[in-house]
Amino acid sequence: FGTLPELIRATASAQPAKLAIADGDAQVSYEELDRAMDRIAAALQRDGTAQRQAVASVAYPCVAQALVFLGTLRAGSVAAPIQPSATPAQIAGMIADSGADIVFLDAANADALVGQDIAARVVMLEELDAWLAPAGAKPQPVEIAPEDGFNIIYSSGTTGVPKGIVQSHAMRWQHLSRNAAAGFDTAVTLLSTPLYSNTTLVSFLPTLGWGGSVVLMKKFDARRYLELAERYRATHTMLVPVQYQRIMALDDFDRFDLSAFRFKTCTSAPFKAELKADVVARWPGLLVEYYGMTEGGGSTALNATEHRDKLHTVGRPLPDHDIRLIDDEGNEVPPGGTGEIVGRSAAMMNGYHGREQATRDATWTSADGLRFIRHGDVGRFDEDGFLVLMDRKKDMIISGGFNIYPSDIEAVLAEHPAVADCTVVGVPSEQWGETPVGFYVPREGAEAGVDDVLAETNAKLGKTQRLSALYQADELPRSAIGKVLKRELRDRLAAGEF
Ligand code: ATP
Ligand code: MG
Repeated sequence: FGTLPELIRATASAQPAKLAIADGDAQVSYEELDRAMDRIAAALQRDGTAQRQAVASVAYPCVAQALVFLGTLRAGSVAAPIQPSATPAQIAGMIADSGADIVFLDAANADALVGQDIAARVVMLEELDAWLAPAGAKPQPVEIAPEDGFNIIYSSGTTGVPKGIVQSHAMRWQHLSRNAAAGFDTAVTLLSTPLYSNTTLVSFLPTLGWGGSVVLMKKFDARRYLELAERYRATHTMLVPVQYQRIMALDDFDRFDLSAFRFKTCTSAPFKAELKADVVARWPGLLVEYYGMTEGGGSTALNATEHRDKLHTVGRPLPDHDIRLIDDEGNEVPPGGTGEIVGRSAAMMNGYHGREQATRDATWTSADGLRFIRHGDVGRFDEDGFLVLMDRKKDMIISGGFNIYPSDIEAVLAEHPAVADCTVVGVPSEQWGETPVGFYVPREGAEAGVDDVLAETNAKLGKTQRLSALYQADELPRSAIGKVLKRELRDRLAAGEF
């Protein structure tokens, strides 16, 4: 067992001048990173932040936020980066929930939080230098135990209130070790998702742990992403599906030199098979899709470059990940059956921060007495052991006694030439209990109107799957890591907005 701050120090002494993190404006070498971590840790100790206490930050990804995250670890405190895309009241709630008494904000987020009741002391990331301990300062050394908190990550809040997931140093170490041979030591990893998300951290942390370089993009833009990839000769990246979609849709995609890429990953939301195929065909380097949750139950990986016939799946369980499927009564479903995914591995959260009931609700115990985490997703294994995801359990629509998966309907709706983006949600229905309704963003210049799209889509759907209504939207509400916010659509529909 080791710790990330130790790994960073080792790189700082072996390759002090090597680029550690850049964000388009600022950049730090490993030596500078190591010194900044010391000065941040010393300043936290000076200010009375305790070991194992959370240190919050709300920012768009930038070098200063990354330094605060990593410096926090050196003080033995717990990094708590918080979602800038949440509402101001939710952000204030998460800061309070984390137990942080100090919060680092960038200017944009500070503006958004004006008027919120925030008890923690605020330090602006733009003025980090003034807060730091003096150059050359060293923190009091701390002893870090494997079960100590490394970070608190708030779940995306896709299905309810975001829950604080405490990941330990041991859990992170597991993950770092597993990636020791993935070429991160010579990586230039280009990232443009926020640091609050595990999606980002699963690339960010191994890159820095194994001595590679991270390039952060503050705000995603498809063309700028490709320009940066070319300029830095990016080798690794992690993008969410909607980002792949925007990049692949650029007319001049094929003009960019992406030949340095070795390892591209994707996770967090459904990644369409056709889009995976397009990335595999036109973008050099391996493409690997991960399925999992921040809580770290059981994860799967699909090597999309290798398994071209399995692109409709999320791949097979990672080594030592036990994934099973259960029915509503909590019994394992027979082989080939469909059920809620539960998983266990060495890398599981201890629990939700301050939410014992939610932790119990997320736990399933097998007949052989093992503790699993309930994923809240429904799936089945195909004959070769590849996991086919159906949908989130909470999004499943029960209509007239039938289980309907919105993702099946979305796949049909998405095929319509007039549809650029779409989603399907269940709404209450007197006759059926629940019924599916669709939303779509029209493709530019599309001739078919909403009634045509509805009729043509319904003609291809099974009787129980047919949409009761279809609405146009300028854009679908999405979280900062590209998850469609179905709850928001349901609320807006109920409020008569469509
Ligand atoms: P909350 O738990 O607060 O409702 P969330 O589940 O979206 O939010 P995360 O932990 O960020 O929070 O996301 C995990 C979920 O993301 C999974 O349960 C799954 O629904 C979805 N997901 C992850 N990877 C994939 C993937 N490869 N394909 C489809 N969905 C995925
Ligand atoms: Mg979840």
